Amino acid sequence: MSSPRWLADEMVGRLARYLRFVGCDTRYVRGLSDDEVLELARVEDRVILTRDRRLAGRAERALLLESPDIAGQWRAVHDAYPGVPTDIRFDRCTECNGNLEKVVEPPPEPRIEGVPWDRVAQGLPLFRCAACGHFYWEGTHTADIRARLASWTGSPAP
Ligand SMILES: [Zn+2]
Repeated sequence: MSSPRWLADEMVGRLARYLRFVGCDTRYVRGLSDDEVLELARVEDRVILTRDRRLAGRAERALLLESPDIAGQWRAVHDAYPGVPTDIRFDRCTECNGNLEKVVEPPPEPRIEGVPWDRVAQGLPLFRCAACGHFYWEGTHTADIRARLASWTGSPAP
């Protein structure tokens, strides 16, 4: 994957989640001062994603997002960084940015509600966040996300 590591500020949390869906290492920060955001980006070698022109102007590497909506922001990211994936990868936790691991042996009872254990037993790949334990799998929700991602990249800018 040829995507930089990202640091999303609190104005672009939704974008951060979708970047994690496609496997990008995306740190999302809230409640930090501009100086703290800039320092974190420098130390962790991340490109800042922000709608704040002043913050972007002070950063070594930043992408200023002009669009207030997710579709426009998504296109701006891919225009500036064409190597960023456009399809879901089960690499990153959308909740916490942790690494996902394939669950080789489903955990014993009691099993967490909501996970389609019967389908997992039949071979549906299941992934788990190594950091927070959140589960991921292919389902109707991933189909919806795929359709959304396709519509954002496929349609002209508003
Ligand atoms: Zn997680």
